[in-house]
Amino acid sequence: MSNWHPTNDQLLEFASGTGSSAMSIAISTHLHFCQACRHQVHDNESMAAVLFEEQTRADLAGDGFDRLMSRIQNEPTVSAPKAPKAPSRFPPVIEKLIHKDTESLDWRSPMKNLRVSQLLKDETGLILGLHHMKSGGRVPHHTHRGNEISVVIEGGFSDEMGSYGPGDFIHLAGEHFHSPQADADGDCWLLSLVEAPVKLTGPLGWLVNPFLKP
Ligand SMILES: [Zn+2]
Repeated sequence: MSNWHPTNDQLLEFASGTGSSAMSIAISTHLHFCQACRHQVHDNESMAAVLFEEQTRADLAGDGFDRLMSRIQNEPTVSAPKAPKAPSRFPPVIEKLIHKDTESLDWRSPMKNLRVSQLLKDETGLILGLHHMKSGGRVPHHTHRGNEISVVIEGGFSDEMGSYGPGDFIHLAGEHFHSPQADADGDCWLLSLVEAPVKLTGPLGWLVNPFLKP
């Protein structure tokens, strides 16, 4: 049972299919653990379908509505969870991104007791990463540049703000300064969602940035 959830706006964006890929994966991962938000998304989708129908009833000669309905009906995160054929460690959408196993990913260790691996960078520049904290390990005090979202996918950790377990969807603002510690009874794995770092900062950055290639 999750205690930390996406905002209503984020769920609505997900339900209407307008969110970015990385954000949709993060939300979908939360929905894997959280029945309350699954219901909320389902309600939002029904509403989105009604709005869509009203807006397009007049000129809907094509198959737009059928496509939308089929997307809603095929939405894997909304249907009741089925018993997995083989035990799956992480939510299926994450297993797919990991491809093989976590050890074959490209890891770096920016801080003590923490290693991170980039899973994907989406069309809006959001980066989805996998974080791994060793059981009981404390990550040194740090702050976050810009907004960051973390979703716990296995184990748990705590910081000055609270304790988190599987499915918890945590918004970290730029001013948030913390020293997270993984629970002692197992490693903690989480997804992180951040904006791609700005390449140049400083007083002349605005002069140079327009000439940078993306
Ligand atoms: Zn939720």
